[in-house]
Amino acid sequence: MGAGAMGSLFGGLFALAREEVWLVDIWKEHIDTICSKGLVLEEKGKAQPIPIHATTEVASVGKADLVLIFVKTYHTEKAVSDARALQRESTVFLTLQNGLGNEETICKHIDRKKVLLGVTGQGATLLGPGHIRHAGWGKTYVGELDGKTSDRVNQIVQMFRKAGIETEVSSKIHNLVWEKLFVNVGLNALAAITGLKNGQLLDYPETLRLMEALVSEAIEVAKRKGVQIEGNPIDRVKTVIEATRENRCSMGQDLDFKRRTEIDTINGAIVREAGQLGIPAPYNQMITDLIKVIEKTFSQC
Ligand code: NAD
Repeated sequence: MGAGAMGSLFGGLFALAREEVWLVDIWKEHIDTICSKGLVLEEKGKAQPIPIHATTEVASVGKADLVLIFVKTYHTEKAVSDARALQRESTVFLTLQNGLGNEETICKHIDRKKVLLGVTGQGATLLGPGHIRHAGWGKTYVGELDGKTSDRVNQIVQMFRKAGIETEVSSKIHNLVWEKLFVNVGLNALAAITGLKNGQLLDYPETLRLMEALVSEAIEVAKRKGVQIEGNPIDRVKTVIEATRENRCSMGQDLDFKRRTEIDTINGAIVREAGQLGIPAPYNQMITDLIKVIEKTFSQC
């Protein structure tokens, strides 16, 4: 569900591994192009068309073993509600989206016994209708919400590996979601607003201080919520920023192209969680407000 950059990447790799895959997306031109010419996947300078089922009509798919949710987080509620048409008793719903709160949104519509959580270091860029580029090769982790091992998670991990997606089972998937959130909280909105590439955030004392303040507030929220934090998350955020020094982050690209961002499930989620805990999160509040005002100016263009 959601066959943009990431949905098409995972779907395309599964199709190459001879799984039966359906891409479902509301973007008609994209789906029509995939149906007529295949999905073009660019990888390491080579482009190949992949024949794959694609539709805008979720009802035409039938029942699914696995539903992978890859819409932007502000579309999750509608996409998951539509995806109920795909379920039978044993269907599993997995999100590898960024941000906090995806589990809760999915569980509004789907029995939580059917829901799995994950994070991925894979990256992809949508180049145009029916055309994506594989842009990052980090590890993927998948886990049960209660941390137990299960046959279905093992099967999914095997299937991902068969498709060339390096994947591990995690018994602490919520901790990994928070670890990725720390990076997104410290990096995305700050780079987006300043117009900087990732690595430049480390080059100025001002952005370094702001990054540390944003992440520190998130760490405090996580600690109070009982999330196990190993090592120093700020150091890990710096390592990721350094490793992706030349990239313009996804929220930066969203602002550059005047698109809505996922701020509500990143810095906005820290503000909400802090509010519920009765603790302040002024840096995250300010950067969330700034991004939201910038988004509001888009509709006036
Ligand atoms: P994207 O915008 O490229 O794709 C999202 C797709 O969802 C779009 O094609 C859109 O038309 C479709 N969509 C919207 N509403 C829908 C609905 N109701 N039903 C079906 N399809 C619908 O986004 P993306 O870059 O693929 O990101 C998806 C998620 O993965 C986000 O949470 C993002 O943070 C996360 N993520 C992205 C990357 C990356 O490199 N792009 C890496 C890791 C995680």
